[in-house]
Amino acid sequence: MATPLLALDSIVKDYPSEAGTFRALHGISMTVMPGELLAIMGPSGSGKSTLMNIIGALDTPSSGRFHFAGEETSTLSEPALAALRNRAIGFVFQQFNLLPRLTARDNVALPLIYAGLPRRDRLARANALLARVGLAERTRSRPSQLSGGQQQRVAIARALAADPRLLLADEPTGALDTRTGAEILGLFKALNREAGVTVILVTHDPGVAAATDRVVRIQDGQILYDGFPTPEALAGAAGHHYDAVS
Ligand code: ADP
Ligand code: MG
Repeated sequence: MATPLLALDSIVKDYPSEAGTFRALHGISMTVMPGELLAIMGPSGSGKSTLMNIIGALDTPSSGRFHFAGEETSTLSEPALAALRNRAIGFVFQQFNLLPRLTARDNVALPLIYAGLPRRDRLARANALLARVGLAERTRSRPSQLSGGQQQRVAIARALAADPRLLLADEPTGALDTRTGAEILGLFKALNREAGVTVILVTHDPGVAAATDRVVRIQDGQILYDGFPTPEALAGAAGHHYDAVS
């Protein structure tokens, strides 16, 4: 069997609090294979961002094991974790997080500095990535000159700069109107289908989750449902837990 891209085994996350510790994740186990397109859903405070931080190697679990492409992240040093993040994971955020003073091209080219690419190659790659997300004509625009949907396209091009194995997007359509959100969702889907990038979308929007292949619904730090995005699962009515992978 192929190596999973992500393997979470009994992940627990505790945060210190005044009342002792607060357990945000209660033993999450799931596997994601290369090339999957999945949505993580759940109400506010259910642990989605905590889970994303662990999957994105931004934080480590209190207990349990997390393997990224076969490598256990708890054994990695902070520099090694940072290298994994920069090389293997592209992040996309609700508010785009572009640098306002830089052009679209320079926003996309910035992460390639860390890859050690010469400037000429960085700019050529940034232009190619912007063309791929439909912004060939806007490479010299600053974020304030672009619509929300265009800014999110720039952010997606930036996330793709290091040719990551995983795109991790936290509410990527949350700041967009319905039609623009659907276009951005279509772009994620095309990148998944055509380039084989594994895509994980965190969303509270059932319409977004419905366009994916798999929905993982969490509540109070536990997986309530893991499987096909059926209408019941999207509505939060499906309570049974089955593992779509094993
Ligand atoms: P979601 O993204 O689904 O809204 P979070 O993962 O942000 O949920 O939070 C899950 C729970 O953990 C919440 O109850 C939140 O208050 C708590 N929490 C999140 N981050 C911290 C932190 N750094 N310190 C203490 N508690 C936290
Ligand atoms: Mg959150």
